[in-house]
Amino acid sequence: MALTHNLGFPRIGARRELKQALEACWRGDIDEQQLQIRAAELRKHHWITQREAGIDLIPAGDFALYDQMLNMTTLLGAVPARFNAGSDEIGLDLYFAMARGTASQPAMEMTKWFDTNYHYIVPEFDAHTRFRIASSKLFREVAEAKALGISPKVVLIGPLTYLYLGKETEPGFNRLDLLAHLLPVYREILARLASLDVEWVQIDEPFLALDLEDDWLSGLDQAYAALAGTGTKLPKLLLATYFEAVDNHAARLKNLPVDGLHIDLCRAPDQLDIFLEGYPTGKVLSLGIIDGRNVWRADLAQALAILAHAQLTLGERLWIAPSCSLLHCPVDLELETRLDSEIKNWLAFSVQKLKEVSILGQGLNQGENAIREKLDASTRARQERRESPRNHNPVMQERLQRLTQNDSQRTSPFEVRQVLQQQRFQFPDLPTTTIGSFPQTPEIRQARAAFRKGELGNLQYLEAMRREIQLAIRKQEEIGLDVFVHGEAERNDMVEYFGEQLCGYAFTENGWVQSYGSRCVKPPILYGDIFRPEPMTVDWIQYAQSLTTKPVKGMLTGPITMLMWSFVRDDQPRSTTALQLALAIRDEVADLERAGIGIIQIDEPAFREGLPLKKANWNEYLKWAVEAFRVSSSGVKDDTQIHTHMCYSEFNDILPAIADMGADVITIETSRSRMELLDGFGQFKYPNEIGPGVYDIHSPRIPETGEMLELLEKACQVINSKQLWVNPDCGLKTRSWPEVVTALERMVEAARQLRAQI
Ligand code: GLN
Ligand code: ZN
Repeated sequence: MALTHNLGFPRIGARRELKQALEACWRGDIDEQQLQIRAAELRKHHWITQREAGIDLIPAGDFALYDQMLNMTTLLGAVPARFNAGSDEIGLDLYFAMARGTASQPAMEMTKWFDTNYHYIVPEFDAHTRFRIASSKLFREVAEAKALGISPKVVLIGPLTYLYLGKETEPGFNRLDLLAHLLPVYREILARLASLDVEWVQIDEPFLALDLEDDWLSGLDQAYAALAGTGTKLPKLLLATYFEAVDNHAARLKNLPVDGLHIDLCRAPDQLDIFLEGYPTGKVLSLGIIDGRNVWRADLAQALAILAHAQLTLGERLWIAPSCSLLHCPVDLELETRLDSEIKNWLAFSVQKLKEVSILGQGLNQGENAIREKLDASTRARQERRESPRNHNPVMQERLQRLTQNDSQRTSPFEVRQVLQQQRFQFPDLPTTTIGSFPQTPEIRQARAAFRKGELGNLQYLEAMRREIQLAIRKQEEIGLDVFVHGEAERNDMVEYFGEQLCGYAFTENGWVQSYGSRCVKPPILYGDIFRPEPMTVDWIQYAQSLTTKPVKGMLTGPITMLMWSFVRDDQPRSTTALQLALAIRDEVADLERAGIGIIQIDEPAFREGLPLKKANWNEYLKWAVEAFRVSSSGVKDDTQIHTHMCYSEFNDILPAIADMGADVITIETSRSRMELLDGFGQFKYPNEIGPGVYDIHSPRIPETGEMLELLEKACQVINSKQLWVNPDCGLKTRSWPEVVTALERMVEAARQLRAQI
């Protein structure tokens, strides 16, 4: 019998119950015990949901009050010394202190979990790091599941992935050296799970999806040799990989002394046969056949055919699962009451995906006829989706066909454009500007909410937003900036705002996905050909421009960011979708230009996160991503100035691509690295203009004029001052007006002082 299982269930709750409980606890509205009760209720509900969906082997240990990596840090007692952990059981106070910081200690760092939008808490390692079982939470949760009559498969992050994703806080120290200390504690954890009658442990080693050095691979062999169950009774291990192909390690993985492997067949369908060939007879192979990273209903007939093929080799040893943990997928489609019913029929969220897994299991075990109706329904839904007129826009497709090299080419090279733009705008040296948004005050949020609920009429809303624009323009006049922005008051979110105005996008009410801690995002669903029925930003920008003689930048979100922060259709290559988005933005750029807007910023904060996990695939991505940006931005006259913005500055490995994007001006985040990250641009001789951020907008601290001046002087040592702009790191929407005004006044003053020097 093929067995069905799940790698992990979203913990935030279908209605974000965990978020509410956490934030209530942090505010002091409920106490720790009440939080724990609510968390236990959620776990119970999730276990029952999975059982009802028909899953045989249900995970425990996938729940976290903040983050699964932080759970491992807690279980392993690897608390950074700066938190003074002591030797007791680690409690919630310390757990949240590591996640969120305290009055005296900054929080542990947070970074992206592989290529997802989920952020984990980065473990900190030094030569003194030692491990011990420091939390009994996991073991308690096993008991909770058992009390429901569920014998769970326990999920742990594997020792190599745990170390790999951490960072060294001591120069010269290699975190892999900690492996020998770590393994005995993993063994102890496994032994304790065995004593609780846990039969299977899923040990996640997604680091295998990355480019790895040999010492890490030898570490893998060493680790699993040490965790093999000789002598002591230990649970069986299912080593789980996901997010990429691991067939380059197939031989090694087949030989590991574990009891099974899980591979991702959604990201890497081609790896199946390599694994099937000579697959060891004593091992389970779990196939991740239902996409855990997307929201589309599966093609069950096709999935069943693949599984049936694998079953010929594997027989009873075939397991069926989603490709990865469902953490990255919304919880339950049933809650969507307002979603168009045609589109809804094309979708599957976590609960529906588990049902798909279960149907496939039934099909394998009882024959196709047992699931005939469901197979047919799935095929029909796929077919309807394929043929639906709302997915296809002939105008857009024809434009894609007609795209030529010329469409991604400005008329003249940068040197020529630069002169024309300077003639037009007459900027001083080191022109000053901001990144786009101004403070999103409670009044703005209230007005937007009231408008959405229909409590505020069109005209009243328009007037409220225009008042905000007036305020922003007046303040910028007072501050003395050179290039203005309208302030983005009308935008709740930089992707949703545009998505709502484009055909081809749908929105959910509850399609939340955890981003970090209690934070969630609700990515829009890009389901069909993208088409822009009418201008999206022109009225706002034009109004702002009417209030001042200074140039106001038009403000758009770029095609790659639109793509990266949405759930994207899986029926055509992402590169095609990116080009469609690019064409829509190109039209908006043209309309802005026609309306007299001379400077247009196309934000691409997500450009870097689109990079594939394996370096070998980078070029292909960069090629189409750069092209999409160029298509969006190249339809303008030479003296129209194109800006782009990215909220980070680790560009060194992709600088040629960044230069290839060809924006006349790029603004980036450099204040926290104290301009160090600008060095790469200098060494590369980055040709176009660049605004390295001098004001860290993430912090409430207002920098002094002298500090910003110092940063600018450093920038001048690396980049010719004729190429430099002066601006904050990112948009100012999370800050308050008084902070913003003071900080920007000082920034403008710093620019003035430096101009006098050069
Ligand atoms: N223009 C946007 C803003 O200022 C850019 C946001 C971002 O980079 N994430 O808010
Ligand atoms: Zn930014």
